Amino acid sequence: MNKNSSNMMALAPNTSNKRETVCIFGTGDFGRALGHKMIQSGYPVVYGSRSTQISNLIPKDAEVLGHAEAAQKAAIIIIAIQRQHYNFLIPLAEVLRGKVLVDISNNLKLNQYPESNAEHLAQLLPGSKVVKAFNTVSAWALQSGTLDASRQVFVCGDDVEAKQMVMNIVRALGLTPLDKGSLLAAQEIENYPLQLFPMWKFPIFLSLGLTAFFFLYCVVLDIIYTYIYEKNDFSFFIAITIPNRVCPVMALILLALVYLPGIFAAIIQLYRGTKYRRFPDWLDKWMLCRKQLGLIALGFASLHVVFTLVTPMRAFASWRTGKGIISQVLNNKTEPLDHTNAWLSDSYLALGILGFFLFVLLGITSLPSVSNNVNWREFRFVQSKLGYLALILCTAHTLVYGGKWFLSPSAYKWYLPNIYILSLIVPCAVLVVKFVLILPCVDKPLTQIRQGWERNPKYSK
Ligand code: NAP
Repeated sequence: MNKNSSNMMALAPNTSNKRETVCIFGTGDFGRALGHKMIQSGYPVVYGSRSTQISNLIPKDAEVLGHAEAAQKAAIIIIAIQRQHYNFLIPLAEVLRGKVLVDISNNLKLNQYPESNAEHLAQLLPGSKVVKAFNTVSAWALQSGTLDASRQVFVCGDDVEAKQMVMNIVRALGLTPLDKGSLLAAQEIENYPLQLFPMWKFPIFLSLGLTAFFFLYCVVLDIIYTYIYEKNDFSFFIAITIPNRVCPVMALILLALVYLPGIFAAIIQLYRGTKYRRFPDWLDKWMLCRKQLGLIALGFASLHVVFTLVTPMRAFASWRTGKGIISQVLNNKTEPLDHTNAWLSDSYLALGILGFFLFVLLGITSLPSVSNNVNWREFRFVQSKLGYLALILCTAHTLVYGGKWFLSPSAYKWYLPNIYILSLIVPCAVLVVKFVLILPCVDKPLTQIRQGWERNPKYSK
């Protein structure tokens, strides 16, 4: 078959059910895994290899030929070879002319080369149509069939038809192609598998740091202080009591931190009198990880619920209840029901339950499968209006629970405030400033600025 006819064959729409032959250069881990999957999906596969000897690792229905000979058999060639060996393709430039070359390569470091591997391949072989695809799928996942991590295959390339052909193969393999545009997107796609939860780093480090701080704070005030001044060993508080103090505090602070950058953004826009100037980098980054902060906050709130539910089962709780009853029996005196206390405890529980309900609602609407089914206004309503309501309810829950202690001198062991007082600083600040921002005299200019009005147009340049 002459090489031009093979190109024509591939670029013409496939009207029969028969799949067209795909060539894979390289019989390494990825080449074999992809070949195996393609054969399963009905594609005839021919390998281009330095050695034409058939090893039993190679899928049994595949052919193995020299590179030039294999390339002539297909219009799509998957380059399952590391970038540093791409120079061997230069002498094959004529055979590869007009063919679709699929670059699947990854690097060992982020932005390892000035240009992406796919762009490098396109520079080496300007007569071929390079498409980037498959690099985010692992050989192991393809081989074992457990494509649990992600079924999405990012595809990019400058030739629309070539990209379409590759996307058809991706679909035929049971994967989901995601068109990322031209070959310029290849660098980003190549960096993708090297990233480890990039949006989660700041929220996780912040949460770990704050959790460690509050945990130690509680150990000092609840265990060490009590041991020194009251000679009581409450070291077992480390297991449930202290985590159940730290978790709600963390949930409340992190929820407030979800809304704090929006407050900063509004203040900056009001101060500048324009929305056309970029926010500082730290604020941009903070805004981008609000969802992650919110989900971690939800995790802490859920732990708080579980810890609270097991509290009555604890030996310490039964001992304390028993002690109260025995002291009433010994003194032959029944304590009357303290109605104020009953109101307070029922109110803070109700506020906590409602706050947690809204918290869960916020978490659910942040799931892509749910957020894809609501429009922008509905999403904003849940995340902003209901989110603020959740913050108000959770702040009120803490205030009602701890309010009576805040003014008592016993709450200031070693002159340090109780952890609940600390937990209220950020949420109260956010709520107070938000209240000011929604006052009509502030809200009106802010809304105008957000609609494009500028107080001082020089900032827009
Ligand atoms: P590999 O196991 O090292 O295989 C690479 C193949 O390249 C070799 O088997 C060899 O095939 C060929 N080769 C090696 N040196 C060569 C040279 N000097 N000239 C020509 N061909 C040469 O690597 P791999 O894991 O299959 O990865 C291949 C590509 O897929 C890499 O770019 C990688 O980044 C990408 N990738 C891999 C995975 C994965 O999970 N492994 C996932 C996504 C992307 P022959 O002996 O048949 O010539």
